[in-house]
Amino acid sequence: MDVKSYTENVLKFIKECSPGQDEFYQASTEVFESLIPILQEDKRYQDNSILERIIMPERTIIFRVTWINDSGKIQTNLGYRVQFNSALGPYKGGLRFHPSVNLGIIKFLGFEQIFKNALTGLGIGGGKGGSNFNPKGKSDAEINRFCQAFMSELYRHIGTTRDIPAGDIGVGAREIGYLFGQYKLLTANFEGVMTGKGVGWGGSFGRKEATGYGSVYFAEHILNRHDNQLKGKICCVSGAGNVATYTIEKLKSMGAIPVTCSDSRGTIYHPKGIDIKTLKAIKEVGRESLEKYAELHPDSTYIPVHKYPEGGHAVWSIPCDIAFPSATQNELTLIDAKNLVKNGCILVNEGANMPTTPQALSYLKENKILFAPAKAANAGGVAVSQLEMAQNASMQHWSFAEVDTKLFAIMKSIFETADETAKEFGQEGNLLMGANIAGFRRVADAMIDEGAV
Ligand code: NDP
Repeated sequence: MDVKSYTENVLKFIKECSPGQDEFYQASTEVFESLIPILQEDKRYQDNSILERIIMPERTIIFRVTWINDSGKIQTNLGYRVQFNSALGPYKGGLRFHPSVNLGIIKFLGFEQIFKNALTGLGIGGGKGGSNFNPKGKSDAEINRFCQAFMSELYRHIGTTRDIPAGDIGVGAREIGYLFGQYKLLTANFEGVMTGKGVGWGGSFGRKEATGYGSVYFAEHILNRHDNQLKGKICCVSGAGNVATYTIEKLKSMGAIPVTCSDSRGTIYHPKGIDIKTLKAIKEVGRESLEKYAELHPDSTYIPVHKYPEGGHAVWSIPCDIAFPSATQNELTLIDAKNLVKNGCILVNEGANMPTTPQALSYLKENKILFAPAKAANAGGVAVSQLEMAQNASMQHWSFAEVDTKLFAIMKSIFETADETAKEFGQEGNLLMGANIAGFRRVADAMIDEGAV
């Protein structure tokens, strides 16, 4: 069978057997389309049914999470852990707590994670999990009880050589602490079964900052390749969570000017540059709305969601040199891409997972905008998670500078791998194709070596 029909058949099969998982089809279609050159060159992948196997999680765990709210009422949520691929090592990937979570979202994230983890060059497989639990508006005690209930099922499926979860949207330091505490209670083991732990109890310096810092290092590597640099560049960043905050912090330290941040209710535009102390005080400590930022900085503007351009987002209508989408999937639409191009943006650097819609992606490509795909640009988080695992296993604790130096080198190596692989397949500068092929090749070769499992 020719390669195009082969990929189309596998995609058709996956749609038929997993209905309604739109984000998962989007992610798998994007990856499969970019694999065509390597599938044509090396017939072993088709002969060994790699696409049929890589698209199917090795194991999917779905469970009920029952907990009691502050009024004494029993609440139920769905919990997920998708153990997608362990060809390169134990499953590794975060947990997302957000009301939009469903199996399709967890599968899209888990699928992307396989290739991202492979690209780091480290020995980690891909997985992802989470719940449709909404942490917003819950008391600290409710979050604690939910995390305990979630871990009361999850603990039997994870382990330091089996599956090592971390954070994602809605799961930060507080939630990792509660989840880890319950794991320890249930197993009587203090071990590195989760990453993103507090630095005082097994966590790594630099993990909290890693995804955002790594995303900025990646952008600098691309710009350097084009005889350019971040210094002096106006940057628009979306999101106001972990990735966005540390993207903004690193951009400032490298002499760029990040002028925006956003949350689900609105966008802040601060032409002189986002004040990182205020942002952290509002989001990390107070867990409040960004509206407060504008109250504290009258020279900034708050744009609420209802004033966004139709079909688009305020953050991408603000003129900038570089865009860092760092909130969530499909947050940069065709309308947004058109605004970015019109305003002279030169690079879109994905901090979030799959933030750019396929239509926006095509438009950016047609207009020759530089593009850093998520699975390369935001891989710094999982890379430092692996460094946390290494420190836990060897009972060491490296300094912040040591971890940051390693992160910088890993991001450089990811950039070079994606860049060289794109060149190898005649698509110079196409980092999306380069990242997909490089990640795929590493995983697929391991799958062939490990036989029919
Ligand atoms: P956080 O929960 O810390 O922050 C998410 C931010 O995005 C918040 O400001 C949130 O606003 C906003 N947001 C979330 N969903 C929506 C939505 N539907 N519409 C508008 N805004 C939204 O998550 P992270 O910063 O950890 O994650 C951000 C992205 O980065 C995700 O795509 C995640 O998968 C990806 N990522 C994260 C890594 C990490 O190490 N944390 C590693 C690699 C990728 P609000 O608070 O109002 O909901």
